[in-house]
Amino acid sequence: MPMDIHQRDDLPFPRSLPAFQRLFPDDEACARYLLKLRWRDGFVCPYCASVGDPLRFPSRPSVLRCRKCRRNTGLTVGTVMERSHTPLNVWFWAAYLVTSQTPGVSAVQFQRQLGISRYETAFQILHKLRAGMVRPDRDRIGGNAGEHVEVDDSYVGGRTRGKGRGVHDKVLVATAVEVRQRKPGTKLDKRKGGRYAGRVRLAVVPDRSAKSLCGFVEGSVTPGTKIVTDDWGAYAGLTKRGYDHVAVAERGDPHIAEEYLPIIHLVFANLKTWLTGTHHGVSHQHLQSYLNEFTFRFNRRFYPFNAFRSLLGIAGDVAAPTYAGLYSGEWTHPSCCG
Ligand SMILES: [Zn+2]
Repeated sequence: MPMDIHQRDDLPFPRSLPAFQRLFPDDEACARYLLKLRWRDGFVCPYCASVGDPLRFPSRPSVLRCRKCRRNTGLTVGTVMERSHTPLNVWFWAAYLVTSQTPGVSAVQFQRQLGISRYETAFQILHKLRAGMVRPDRDRIGGNAGEHVEVDDSYVGGRTRGKGRGVHDKVLVATAVEVRQRKPGTKLDKRKGGRYAGRVRLAVVPDRSAKSLCGFVEGSVTPGTKIVTDDWGAYAGLTKRGYDHVAVAERGDPHIAEEYLPIIHLVFANLKTWLTGTHHGVSHQHLQSYLNEFTFRFNRRFYPFNAFRSLLGIAGDVAAPTYAGLYSGEWTHPSCCG
């Protein structure tokens, strides 16, 4: 498994919730962690540049006061936790849960696990963290020598309420996934010949036309990449758009699909399990947000520390998102918060 690229020996990142809660039992432990994350070699006052331990206040663990110029520096300024009355450790645990747990976590589960007294508090925390996940990854995938990308489209079930049994409101989702090869000598999953998924891109598309599907590929995959699809005619246009296109004659045979497009079917299966299991079906207008959340988590599944820092807005070396402008109504629909 690849190493977390920002993992630091002096900042351990546990891989289970109980271990995580032992490491971050309270506000103070989290504040110390934030301090170390921002100033690896000790506090430097951003106002007067003096070096040395700042003054601390037990009742306000996220405030550091410079001993020289006496000015305060807030540890949570510019992060998702700024101006929140919720203890830092609850934010830490929440970010850990939503980045690490599969499938995702609902407000009720979260409230239960963390013992938060108010549902609204749990909901607001999750809402703010999820808003950090729906910012799409914008760079195109693929483009790595010796690796190819599988592309496919599949219908995802919408909600069927009020329309009787059967399939209603199906939404077409196009997916691209990087296929990687484990190094010889590592433990192999024989069924997939050592192949595993790299990064994914997912988008709601209006139909199965060449315009929709090739348009999705152009927006998602680096030109020149080898792309494997089934033999649906719309994908034939990929060659003249600059891709090294290979079409597999699938003819509806699931064994052929499993053999030639194994990774994308795995991604679709994960997506569908998550959507139906966690959210009991998702309404059409919210699906792209869920796809973005799925993409965020999936693409960072080997890098939980990065995902954690990104959601809390404590990435440091990465431009932090602005949380002040979040529209609070965006996620308040019952299908995702029940
Ligand atoms: Zn100072």
